[in-house]
Amino acid sequence: MENKEKIYDDLIKCLNENEYPKEDIEFIKKAYFLADKQHTGQKRASGEEYIIHPLSVALYLAKMKVDREMIATGLLHDVVEDTDYTLEQISEQFGESVANLVNGVTKITTLKNSPTKSDLKAETIRKMLLAMIEDIRVIIIKLSDKVHNMSTLCYVSEEKQKRTAKECLEIYAPLAGKLGLGVIKSQLEDLSLQALKPHIYEEIINFSKQREKEKKGQIAEVTKKLQQKLEKANLKYTIKSRTKHAYSVYNKMRKFNKKLEDVFDLYGIRIITQTVEDCYAVFGMVHSLFQPVPGRFKDYIANPKSNGYKSLHTTVMVAKRTALEIQIRTYEMDQMNEYGVAAHWYYKTGEKNGDLKWLEELKNMQTESLSPAEYYQTIRDDILREEIYVFSPKGDIYKMPQGATALDFAYKVHTQIGHRCRGAKVSGKIVPLGKALKNGAIVEIITGKDACPKMEWLSLVKTTDAKKKIRAFFAGLDKQTAEQQTVQPPLSNKQPDFTTEEFTPKRLGQSISIADNRRISIEINGEKNLLFSFARCCHPVPPDNIVGFVSRGRGIIIHREDCESLRSQPDYHERVLNADWGRITGSKTYSFFMKVVPTNKHYIELMSYIKKKKGSVLDYRLDESTKNENEIDCYLSVDMPASIDEHRILKDLRNLPSVNFVGKR
Ligand code: MN
Repeated sequence: MENKEKIYDDLIKCLNENEYPKEDIEFIKKAYFLADKQHTGQKRASGEEYIIHPLSVALYLAKMKVDREMIATGLLHDVVEDTDYTLEQISEQFGESVANLVNGVTKITTLKNSPTKSDLKAETIRKMLLAMIEDIRVIIIKLSDKVHNMSTLCYVSEEKQKRTAKECLEIYAPLAGKLGLGVIKSQLEDLSLQALKPHIYEEIINFSKQREKEKKGQIAEVTKKLQQKLEKANLKYTIKSRTKHAYSVYNKMRKFNKKLEDVFDLYGIRIITQTVEDCYAVFGMVHSLFQPVPGRFKDYIANPKSNGYKSLHTTVMVAKRTALEIQIRTYEMDQMNEYGVAAHWYYKTGEKNGDLKWLEELKNMQTESLSPAEYYQTIRDDILREEIYVFSPKGDIYKMPQGATALDFAYKVHTQIGHRCRGAKVSGKIVPLGKALKNGAIVEIITGKDACPKMEWLSLVKTTDAKKKIRAFFAGLDKQTAEQQTVQPPLSNKQPDFTTEEFTPKRLGQSISIADNRRISIEINGEKNLLFSFARCCHPVPPDNIVGFVSRGRGIIIHREDCESLRSQPDYHERVLNADWGRITGSKTYSFFMKVVPTNKHYIELMSYIKKKKGSVLDYRLDESTKNENEIDCYLSVDMPASIDEHRILKDLRNLPSVNFVGKR
């Protein structure tokens, strides 16, 4: 059991370390003495003195380096509710700002007259989010309060433990994640796991302690190698080793159905340095020291997570069969990743942390008439869900909540695309409109001029936005039409051969490229599933020799190996990666040069032929500069089943009426 003197000393020590000015420390001390006096004689369920609780909350807050008002509120947050001290008195003693914060936190906890338990829960959360919209500091204090309550959860009934832990995983931990409060999020998750699955939690903790002991020597060796390399480059840096928190290990076991021993990166190293440029330089050095594990490189600097999380992640082999995750980031990113929104009081950047658009969504939800249950669901499944990234065939990135479907995507792209949606393809295959999309999916929406929304679509979409648009569509129609819609037979099984976009002569005149990332398989450092895009400067097509280049904002870009503009890039050698056109099993890639008659018919003929042979187009370009009435140059790369030989394809292409000439490239 902790005693209050010790925590109080820790608090003052922490304030001094984080360089709070003297008058701030006095202000916080004054709040402590008042709270201590008011809570005298009160006990927590654990039997501890009550003051331990607000004092611990204040300590969490001080570690986040937030302002003195928030820390004082941490100390005073239960004074008004649990003692005879009033808000007016707080306002007199500590100012209006602290009084408002205390009021915000108190309002959340004192909501007791809703009809049912689940309504009460939803209502509490609604209040909390409302208070948060007004002042985001309220939620940071509330979340710190939650961490301490969760850490003393073992003193309440088992049933209540489980219920609280479940709610914590559904709402509070994701909320902390959304705000970028990484430290609070992992604490809440671990404490919830401990309450929900005590055995698994123990197992993970013991296992990682044992692992830590075993790996100590190895980590020291790796750190030494890194230090030598970094020192040579004259970089300012800090290296930290770290253990993965229990819940993320548990998640990995569950997601990949693995045993504890097989979740290999329990342990990791973090390199913190000064600038973004340094991060990429360090990344190159790490890869030159150790063999990277394919597919494990993630560039969250170029593509930050929606909560603003920025870092480079890579996994490397440091010894035979020993992989190690290495994170690389700047000092500022590190602080932001750990304390998110709260870090702003320290950095005083004024720059918003990550994307807080979802707060706007929350505000808008207040005006919709949702039942408490609906409200809770929307918050849980839509707003607080982690995001996935989905791509259009052109490579535009869209952020969607996890669980979003192809139909949600259609509405996200454009309301009219949603309304006219007839079907969807993911990676070239038709998928049901209501199927949840995976992160990184490339989604193509097939539209039809006569298509329109059906009532049952409401059950196929997961996002509030799409639901709203579908409802609006039906609200705009007269009742009869809406009913007709609902009795229409489901979508016919016959899928259109092409997207309905017309291939007009005007379009033909332009030089277009339909490079189709879905079907192009590229191996980067031996790994097939990395995201990439093609360089516009040299436009590589099979079978050109190619390389990958780690860009400073657009992930990995594929260039031709002999690309001039690539060579002139600074630190070219640190950032270039091996790449090769991947072999799609059972298929071969061909590139042709053709002279063709520029009409609609030509494109249809060509595509029908390739479809019939079960091939797919990788690249198709018309060279505008060669266009005359009767002929235009055309470049084609296709992936064809290995069973058809090249002569056959050449012959077939020559036989197409619109093709005047075909040659190999
Ligand atoms: Mn409390």
